[in-house]
Amino acid sequence: MRAGAHKGDTMEDKKILVIEDEKPIADILKYGFEKEGFQVQCAYTGSEGFVMAGKNPPNLVLLDWMLPDINGVDVCRMLAEQYRIPIIMLTARGSVEDKLYGLESGADDYITKPFDLREVVARVRTILRRFDKARGLPEDTPLVCGHLTVAEQEHSVYKHDELLNLTPKEYELLICFLKHPRQVFTRTALLDRIWGYDFLGDTRTVDIHVQRIRKKAGLEGMLVTVFGVGYKYVPQ
Ligand code: CA
Repeated sequence: MRAGAHKGDTMEDKKILVIEDEKPIADILKYGFEKEGFQVQCAYTGSEGFVMAGKNPPNLVLLDWMLPDINGVDVCRMLAEQYRIPIIMLTARGSVEDKLYGLESGADDYITKPFDLREVVARVRTILRRFDKARGLPEDTPLVCGHLTVAEQEHSVYKHDELLNLTPKEYELLICFLKHPRQVFTRTALLDRIWGYDFLGDTRTVDIHVQRIRKKAGLEGMLVTVFGVGYKYVPQ
């Protein structure tokens, strides 16, 4: 499989964390993966990597075996215990025993140095696809409703390629309709759902918000009023 052969997949914006103390190698990996549309962050020690994985969870970790502070295998074990992130071990070692040891500690794959960058990219793509498949739809699979695309991790909605400027309540209301096509919501139900039971406003708040999202998202004719009841989203 050649690197770049899967450009149409959902690899763009996938985050890779490289934990590697040899800066030239980390740089090559960063360069190679960024060129393929991945976001890459580098850590040069095991503890730094472990902290980074917690702060900004990556979709996959490329982990060097020989690190200056904590052994890569131990980092691997720590990551595997704490997070569900696929891990590929990078190592100069190549013996079967080492490989088994690495895999037992929670690594998903194993790449021997010196590596071919294209092979690393291809292996990463394979593991990410396998991982996404194993847990069903990946969290960041966008919800596509006609001309609208919802990126829930970003809390954003795009109309074609244009980012909609929505308030948090408008966003929640829009998502509620898009996720429940054809379901009728009463104004009271929407108030409870989006604003919470304690909200002191009245149902006109819902009407105003519905009018705004209709306009902003171009849903005239799709976000319809059910007379005397409420609203529903009817995809076209
Ligand atoms: Ca090293």
